[in-house]
Amino acid sequence: MAAKASDTQRTKFVLDEKDIPSKWYNIQADLKTPAPPVLHPGTGQPIGPQDLAPLFPMELIKQEVSRERWIAIPDGIRDVLRLWRPSPLYRARRLERALGTPARIYYKYEGVSPAGSHKPNTAVAQVYYNKQEKVTRISTETGAGQWGSALAMACSFFGLQCKVYMVKVSYQQKPYRRIMMETWGAQVVASPSPDTQAGKKVLQQDPNSPGSLGIAISEAVEDAATREDTKYSLGSVLNHVLMHQTVIGLEAKKQLEKADDEADIVIGCAGGGSNFAGLSFPFAADKLTGKQKKLRIIAVEPSACPSLTKGKYVYDFGDAVGLTPLVKMHTLGHAFVPAPLHAGGLRYHGMAPLVCKLYDEGVIEAVAVSQVSTFQTAVQFARTEGIIPAPESAHAIRVVIDEALRCKRDGKRQAILFNLSGHGHFDLGAYEAFLAGKLQDYEYPAEKIAEALRGVPKVKA
Ligand SMILES: *Cc1c(COP(=O)(O)O)cnc(C)c1O
Repeated sequence: MAAKASDTQRTKFVLDEKDIPSKWYNIQADLKTPAPPVLHPGTGQPIGPQDLAPLFPMELIKQEVSRERWIAIPDGIRDVLRLWRPSPLYRARRLERALGTPARIYYKYEGVSPAGSHKPNTAVAQVYYNKQEKVTRISTETGAGQWGSALAMACSFFGLQCKVYMVKVSYQQKPYRRIMMETWGAQVVASPSPDTQAGKKVLQQDPNSPGSLGIAISEAVEDAATREDTKYSLGSVLNHVLMHQTVIGLEAKKQLEKADDEADIVIGCAGGGSNFAGLSFPFAADKLTGKQKKLRIIAVEPSACPSLTKGKYVYDFGDAVGLTPLVKMHTLGHAFVPAPLHAGGLRYHGMAPLVCKLYDEGVIEAVAVSQVSTFQTAVQFARTEGIIPAPESAHAIRVVIDEALRCKRDGKRQAILFNLSGHGHFDLGAYEAFLAGKLQDYEYPAEKIAEALRGVPKVKA
């Protein structure tokens, strides 16, 4: 669709506070067949709400399995979201000009939240429901530190204690993320830590373990499962987390209407799948219900941790040690420890089951990109659009630019929308390495993945 002449210089599409969505979109309502059940690791049977009750408040457990299309956002949550929502939608005019592409590039910028990413959208919701159910302490893991900071901030708003197990490689690379969490009142330890049995076990095998999201999840889950006052909170992967993020896509749809435009391609980076789903699910709805047939939706992952493009679609544990229920997802094997990529938020062995289901059904596509080429586009983006992207978000930008250049070659005037899930102000060490020519690519770890996949539990389908 051609943009109107009057819009030729419009760069920013902003909404009013009253346009913050009042309902989340639940894609489970529009799936042709229900998502595969989550299984109990001991019995192999589908788990019920009572199995999850030690870890999550009941309201979130209900949301996890709900097939209602729309779920109302309580005012107590919207009142906090007002601090940074609605987030802006930008047209990347300078990037378009630099590329010489006829494509129109739009980005939804989630770096405007106080924690600097999309993660507070669900952190606030999760802490709110825990507070409602009288929980006083929350444990969690964090990779790059984005989720830990979001949860620490949300806990400070609602007066809950927060314990964060931070993947060791990020703990070392990003001291300022830790200080941010501590400023918001959280307690932070490097994972694997001696504070849990799971952490001790990993440290015994490998005292220099760089840690992984999987290991940190094991620790945080154990913490919550062994304490009365504590529940666990996950920043991605789960159905309810993806649903909380749909405020992003719902706003973006309204903003594209303001731009008098329609997306042909929707792109997001995918670690656990939440920012990708948050932007894309409200658009995928139009594909699932037959309203929009031609739309392409692309998830981008690092080639060093390629769960969608190289993983197996089987039941596996969500954590490294094998404490969580079994979920059907594209997995590299729960014991897979990815290379210490700078995009810490993309170092997860699995992927959100709902994203995997859409991928399996051909509703979405997936692409894997390498670290160095990702930083090349991150710098190009910073030099044209100003914003220094989080290394995670830069994965999406890599593919946005590839698609825009394809449009240039083929003379296609398509509209590309992507999620700029966060800023990279705490990732300048990675930029420093890139600018000094010291950033490296990691080979696709075929052997390590094959080995980890042999450890996936056998489950009758
Ligand atoms: C955590 C994070 C990601 C990856 O997590 P998803 O659940 O896949 O969104 C991506 N971008 C940023 C900025 C993050 O903080």
